[in-house]
Amino acid sequence: MLPSRKYDCIVIGAGPAGSAAAMEMARAGLDILVLDRGEFPRFRIGESFLPRTKRAFRRLGVLDKCLALPHARKLGVEISLGDARHGSQYFHFRDVYGDGDKEAFNMARMHLDQMMMESAREAGADVRTSCAIEQLPRLEDGNVTVRTTHGEFHGRWLIDASGQASTIGKELGQRRFHSFLRNVAYFEHFEHVVRPSGRGQNCFALTIADEGWFWLIPLDATRTSIGFVARETLHRNLDVPSEDRLRWAISRTPMLRERMANAIGPEKNRVISDFTYRCDPFAGPGHFLIGDAAAFLDPVWSTGLTLGLLAAEQAAGSVIRMSRNSSPATERARHNAWMKRITDRAFRLVEGFYDPNFRDLLFSRNRTKQLERAFVTLLAGEIDDIPFGVGLRCQALRGLCAVQRVWPVTGRVRPFRIALSSPDAPTAIVSSAPSA
Ligand SMILES: Cc1cc2nc3c(=O)[nH]c(=O)nc-3n(C[C@H](O)[C@H](O)[C@H](O)COP(=O)(O)OP(=O)(O)OC[C@H]3O[C@@H](n4cnc5c(N)ncnc54)[C@H](O)[C@@H]3O)c2cc1C
Repeated sequence: MLPSRKYDCIVIGAGPAGSAAAMEMARAGLDILVLDRGEFPRFRIGESFLPRTKRAFRRLGVLDKCLALPHARKLGVEISLGDARHGSQYFHFRDVYGDGDKEAFNMARMHLDQMMMESAREAGADVRTSCAIEQLPRLEDGNVTVRTTHGEFHGRWLIDASGQASTIGKELGQRRFHSFLRNVAYFEHFEHVVRPSGRGQNCFALTIADEGWFWLIPLDATRTSIGFVARETLHRNLDVPSEDRLRWAISRTPMLRERMANAIGPEKNRVISDFTYRCDPFAGPGHFLIGDAAAFLDPVWSTGLTLGLLAAEQAAGSVIRMSRNSSPATERARHNAWMKRITDRAFRLVEGFYDPNFRDLLFSRNRTKQLERAFVTLLAGEIDDIPFGVGLRCQALRGLCAVQRVWPVTGRVRPFRIALSSPDAPTAIVSSAPSA
């Protein structure tokens, strides 16, 4: 009987992180197996990218393929408080420090993920869909076995890119949830949402309320993704069925009502848990974790995909170096240290959003251009290699937040409360077939 094939690396999940890692390793001549329990194309949320994501796509050689798919330009972020009291604040990527990309794009993940999966296949990886990992009977350096719905497969290394399923994190009991970022997101795609002109043109719109926040993401020439991310106190206590909550929140929020006055889309919304967690250590015997399988972060700054692609580059680099005799201990330590540094930074950035003092500074009329540019540089996803000057300014910003907490240097801004706001005339969300 022939000995069963032993791959250099098995990747769980053909999402963007898994496909990116597979592409890198296959191009380096390694024998790669990618297993995904789903079928492509498939729906995924997470449709807004950063200038740093664009650079990662370019490095992978897939940027032109991305831009050939339906997409919308993203020049920055518009932040508002949901009603007219404070107006909107704009943060444009043209202000990013350094010579990185100064714009990004948004697109439906259905297109992107299919392209990434096919690119991994073109690079030489053996990509199999409708094949779910059920058990991990062996996880040792140089020797891993996965048991799937289609039998057992063997490899030297395993990369877990299984997204929020967190296959290894759950198996090893390593998944730890954030103490307060336990949100739930309600979302859908709509046609005929008003797109602002002027400074808000081609911006990701972020609208803050006391109980959560909305995203408005233009996806292509006509479609807009709209979501409401509800904080724990609201989603646990709200007496409205989950699939009606987007409409409920929109109808109580003046800015959303205005932009969606003629919107057309499904009456019921989709729902996804948005609980922030991490699964460190991010590498162990025989395995590496990347993307959402390693850590999931509240999506307010659209960092998910960027972090997944950057982590894929790191893990793939480790497997390639081990195939050339680098020691597993060295590569594990390297991956853990890199992932911890980047995850800590990203967590701090997201926690800042939920700090009312930071919000005060965002809406301050007196904010200094240099601090604003440092913040925009992080918003652009330039998080893995922060220039010294930017790091210093970010620390100054954190210091200002601490001062604002005890001795306000600028006026307090308080978002309005959706629950106290009465629904106006019903928004014109006309029922249509669910979006693909
Ligand atoms: C509400 C919300 C909004 C978001 N908005 C943004 C945004 O605007 N911008 C952004 O960058 N990010 C955003 N994100 C985050 C983004 O969606 C993720 O970071 C990104 O999808 C992670 O990619 P991935 O490749 O790690 O995982 P995924 O894309 O989830 O892929 C994982 C794959 O693993 C497969 N899989 C799972 N379990 C198994 C198994 N047992 N066997 C085989 N295969 C398996 C799945 O089928 C899937 O195809 C958002 C997330 C949420 C929840």
